[in-house]
Amino acid sequence: MKDLRITNIDVFQVDLPYSGGVYRLSGGREYTSFDATIVRITTHDGTEGWGESTPFGSTYVASHPLGVRAAIALMARSLIGLDPRRVDRINETMDSVLLGHEDAKTALDIACWDILGKSVGLPICELLGGRTAVKMPVISSIPVAAPQEMRQNVAEHRRRGYKGHSVKIDGDPAADAARIAASLADKQPGEFFLVDANGGMRVEIALRMLRLLPTGLDFVLEAPCPTWRECISLRRRTDVPIIFDELATNEASIVQLIADDAAEGIGLKISKAGGLTRGRRQRDICLAAGYTISVQDTTGSDIAFAAIVHLGQTIPERSLRCLLETRDMVTKKTADGEFTVQDGGVSAPTAPGLGITPRMDVLGQPVARYS
Ligand SMILES: [Mg+2]
Repeated sequence: MKDLRITNIDVFQVDLPYSGGVYRLSGGREYTSFDATIVRITTHDGTEGWGESTPFGSTYVASHPLGVRAAIALMARSLIGLDPRRVDRINETMDSVLLGHEDAKTALDIACWDILGKSVGLPICELLGGRTAVKMPVISSIPVAAPQEMRQNVAEHRRRGYKGHSVKIDGDPAADAARIAASLADKQPGEFFLVDANGGMRVEIALRMLRLLPTGLDFVLEAPCPTWRECISLRRRTDVPIIFDELATNEASIVQLIADDAAEGIGLKISKAGGLTRGRRQRDICLAAGYTISVQDTTGSDIAFAAIVHLGQTIPERSLRCLLETRDMVTKKTADGEFTVQDGGVSAPTAPGLGITPRMDVLGQPVARYS
């Protein structure tokens, strides 16, 4: 194997305004813009790899943008001189410097995969196990609003070809039941709905809400409660399929989820997992458990979406729920590539690595450089 060494790591910062004005989540959480960290790793032969990590503000999971950049500052120099193609070894080195902080490790890990792909002339999905023939359905993100406004928002996404909808609720039993009923009112054959509470309900609230719903609504309930115990308690008393998201973080939590028979699937967010190396491992654990997987990120621009697409493209159709179209949530384009969504579906490109070309005019000058 020919020598390949990391010589420089550059960090860029980009503000990504939310495309819909104010994004509302349960518990009164509001977001208007997301702070992206984009990393460029350069090797001694001039190969560049790119990665992104964009937290959903600082109140979604234990992650925030300044923390991403501080953690990269702590880890970056330990990667100089290493071979970026040895992605498991890269992760061991990061872990030896810093415990946790998967959000920060994500940007570096994805940049290494980009280089690995370029070094052998293959798209990342081929290196993650090989592409499926699946045209992957993308899912909308419908923030909390008045029921009829949410119904219109779903209709608008339906018009644009979306087959899946992630409907947000905010922890008021009657209001949420009305939101769900309105959002599902025009459900078409072949459409699917995730109802996402983002951990915003106590068990009592969740049980009351479920009782207020009309019967026969077809949806899965995502992240109902804030704690593991509450989710398990709810689980024992309802037959609604449950998906974990915020509480399914590392491999250990997913193994525990399976041991507790607590869910039917997870939202596999790449920056929550720690990148593609750990995302790959989470994928395999979930496949072994017979889970459905929704490949997502905590939001992000074109570079984050590229990583989502490559991992998603390796999941067999019956196990793949959807991809989150993170690009749709932000107004800035940070890179170009063949990631066109047609009829609500997308396929991974055939270009080597991530298959993206960053827009340097949007990225500007690096805010940090490590060499
Ligand atoms: Mg979710």
